[in-house]
Amino acid sequence: EASFKVIDGKQTAKEIRDEIAEEISRMKDGIGVVPGLAVILVGDRKDSATYVRNKKKACDSVGIKSYEVRLPETASEEEVLKHIAGFNDDPSVHGILVQLPLPSHMNEQKVLNAVCIEKDVDGFHPLNIGRLAMRGREPLFVPCTPKGCIELLHRYGVPIKGKRAVVIGRSNIVGMPAALLLQREDATVSVVHSRTKNPEEITREADILIAAVGQPNMVRGSWIKPGAVIIDVGINPVEDSESPRGYRLVGDVCYEEASKIASAITPVPGGVGPMTIAMLLSNTLTSAKRVHNFK
Ligand code: NDP
Repeated sequence: EASFKVIDGKQTAKEIRDEIAEEISRMKDGIGVVPGLAVILVGDRKDSATYVRNKKKACDSVGIKSYEVRLPETASEEEVLKHIAGFNDDPSVHGILVQLPLPSHMNEQKVLNAVCIEKDVDGFHPLNIGRLAMRGREPLFVPCTPKGCIELLHRYGVPIKGKRAVVIGRSNIVGMPAALLLQREDATVSVVHSRTKNPEEITREADILIAAVGQPNMVRGSWIKPGAVIIDVGINPVEDSESPRGYRLVGDVCYEEASKIASAITPVPGGVGPMTIAMLLSNTLTSAKRVHNFK
């Protein structure tokens, strides 16, 4: 416990935003180009609206121009595809993001495939995921949440090469790409999912544990190897009568217990969440730099 560290995602994300803002002003001064991010939001899910609002705010804070399209829940898939095609052709847009989940009458695969890979700042296009999985290939973009997890490990000086890493969860947007990224960094990776028997026996081997499950406080102290580094991706609302909203957010890891046994852990909130948005900004800048060949 003596050397226990909180991995401060909020502070790290702020540092990254400052670096990005500086790069953007250098680019603006140099070639007169400002990166642009287009966000498409369909329907009126409260959480999605909040995410989109936060992304827009973050764009403003670093000097990325944001373009927003809001469509009603009843919009057709064709309409969404039409907007994507427009942004694909628009040279002032360097990144296109379709806020998920889409309404159930839409084919998510078809919609995500429509984003050209040069503007796929979410990194969800199968070509980008495929390249991420292949040795010797480079994706144009890496999905923001797992990229944020790895960035935290790097910035906190956590060695990855040769370490045992365990990822709980195998979703396309977090767990699976997180496992691929750790493997690219030369960790030995195991993936735990809902059909895994005795998951705690596997997680106890982990020097690095990434939890992306969506189950409040699932990972208990007894699941953790002493001294492990824990990245808690989970964002779970749990009832809390003392909070003005009636709920509070907790991670997938029981923080109380984990902080007594791990060497470092990300808090929820203030861990991976802010990093995800910072990585979106970073991917958008990367895209603009690439298309204008700005070094
Ligand atoms: P999904 O629901 O898409 O995936 C959850 C994964 O966890 C699945 O692979 C599932 O297994 C596995 N799982 C579910 N229950 C168990 C269990 N009891 N034991 C072991 N594995 C289990 O969720 P996401 O990946 O989209 O998100 C995960 C969490 O991360 C959520 O809390 C979400 O809110 C949060 N999140 C946070 C972000 C951030 O910016 N910090 C961004 C995105 C998500 P199976 O494949 O077998 O079904």
